[in-house]
Amino acid sequence: MTLKIGVIGTGAIGREHIRRITNNLSGGKIVAVTDVNSEAAKAAVEQFQLDAEVYPDDKTLIASENVDAILVTSWGPAHQQSVMAGIEAGKYVFCEKPLATTAEGCMEIVQAEVKHGRRLVQVGFMRRYDSGYQQLKEAIDNRFIGEPLMIRCAHRNPEVNDSYTTDMAITDTLIHEIDVLHWLVNDDYKSVQVAYPKKTRHASSHLRDPQVVTLETQGGILINAEIFVNCKYGYDIQCEVIGEEGIVKLPEVASLQYRKNGQLGTHILMDWKDRFLDAYDRELQDFMDSIRTTGEPQGPTAWDGYIAAVTADACVKAQDSGQHEAVELGEKPELYRGTVNRGVQV
Ligand code: NAP
Repeated sequence: MTLKIGVIGTGAIGREHIRRITNNLSGGKIVAVTDVNSEAAKAAVEQFQLDAEVYPDDKTLIASENVDAILVTSWGPAHQQSVMAGIEAGKYVFCEKPLATTAEGCMEIVQAEVKHGRRLVQVGFMRRYDSGYQQLKEAIDNRFIGEPLMIRCAHRNPEVNDSYTTDMAITDTLIHEIDVLHWLVNDDYKSVQVAYPKKTRHASSHLRDPQVVTLETQGGILINAEIFVNCKYGYDIQCEVIGEEGIVKLPEVASLQYRKNGQLGTHILMDWKDRFLDAYDRELQDFMDSIRTTGEPQGPTAWDGYIAAVTADACVKAQDSGQHEAVELGEKPELYRGTVNRGVQV
């Protein structure tokens, strides 16, 4: 069965996903596109020579009988409306982060899916599909390092533009750590705190950079996450899990090692888009394969989207208060208990 997919939002990541589904992956076909800018939607059809209809808006695209699943890749504030309409129509939904821009919005989606009674939604938290994170997860699950006690991680970008604000360090940047870390240790967050080290002179006047976020899990694991978005030297994702019997660390990105002019070195990526290319492929392949084989997507759930939103809200509050802020999720609905939340096995 080929999954017939409609794309809502043909900007940067929308076109990237169209490219990978059309050229790299199997089991899916782009049959419909829409964008607030209809010229952009038409241009995507031409660019990838799609046999796809251009719809005037998300509602008409979702209503089309020709569409089995939607990819929501519009800008964040538009996601909730499309996801809700997708669930109401009983369509499968792959939604880029954020699932919705507020925790309340994410909860509405969770409730709609629970009412529907079956999982339809997968959120685009692609790090779970990165082979390095999957190796970390496997080591933790197999108790290779015993009980995990602490995590040290860093999310560094060479630079950001002037429109990047202090809260975006949480909502746009840390959000990926927020998702992948609770999945990694299979634990929920209890509280968060944010501290500001000495500010880099490379940050704009309105941006606090770097920031250090401390997250404590319900089980007592302490996570120290550095966000440094003007680090200059490259795009660098680090993660080290310290356990009772040893330490496991995210592998470095494979890169040519050189010896030259009295130096021994390797290159570091500069562009975030290059870091998780394989993970983007795997998450979408898994979305399509899972629907075909189990009738439900098996990746990050709407509940994971809700966890990310609630935790990010607490972090933004902690940025202002300087205090520990509680992360209060409420009860996890039955629909999401025991879900596999897997990526492709490595
Ligand atoms: P983008 O290039 O600005 O693309 C967004 C597209 O959606 C634009 O073409 C925009 O049109 C269109 N759009 C805006 N409102 C819409 C609506 N109501 N209905 C349909 N289309 C609408 O942004 P992007 O970088 O592709 O990001 C899109 C989403 O993906 C964001 O939520 C972002 O956070 C997420 N994302 C996730 C990752 C990841 O690592 N998982 C990476 C990148 C992006 P106009 O240009 O005319 O406004």
